[in-house]
Amino acid sequence: MFFSITELEHHPILFDVLYQPGEIAFPEDLRQIGSLAAQGRTELLRNTLGEIRIRGHVKAVMEGVCDRCLEPARLEIDSDFDLFYRPVVRTANHAEIQLEDGEIDLAFYEGEGVELADALREQILLSMPMQLFCRPDCKGLCPYCGANRNQVNCGCRSPFIDPRWASLRDLG
Ligand SMILES: [Zn+2]
Ligand SMILES: [Zn+2]
Repeated sequence: MFFSITELEHHPILFDVLYQPGEIAFPEDLRQIGSLAAQGRTELLRNTLGEIRIRGHVKAVMEGVCDRCLEPARLEIDSDFDLFYRPVVRTANHAEIQLEDGEIDLAFYEGEGVELADALREQILLSMPMQLFCRPDCKGLCPYCGANRNQVNCGCRSPFIDPRWASLRDLG
């Protein structure tokens, strides 16, 4: 769904849409499970140089890779968003103006308007935690043999214990 400046100049646009997996391009290690639902309102802000505000709610289940065991890890996203898009302003030498600190929800658009799929993609990426776990108590991979400790108890112990100390311990 595309929000064009021309239409937004006349009235705000309400949206209530479903995106199927594949319709929004996510990075390779992130998959959308089932449909993604978004509802909200898009408006052109008055007294600005064409700033677009997209507010709404997004609900989706995403699947990435567990940071500890590398198995698939799912995350349910059910969040409100409030995104601002400013037209790209280029200086004389065509350099893009830099984002100022703290303006994390501010993005830029080029051309006739903003594509909702792009805004939702942005919002989903902002909602992803730094680390994703398949479950809160994931035991991860064994650093010695690589076994998934959620599935097997490989029994590995640190190989860095000096064998002489190990035999002393056995005597004790
Ligand atoms: Zn895991
Ligand atoms: Zn092991």
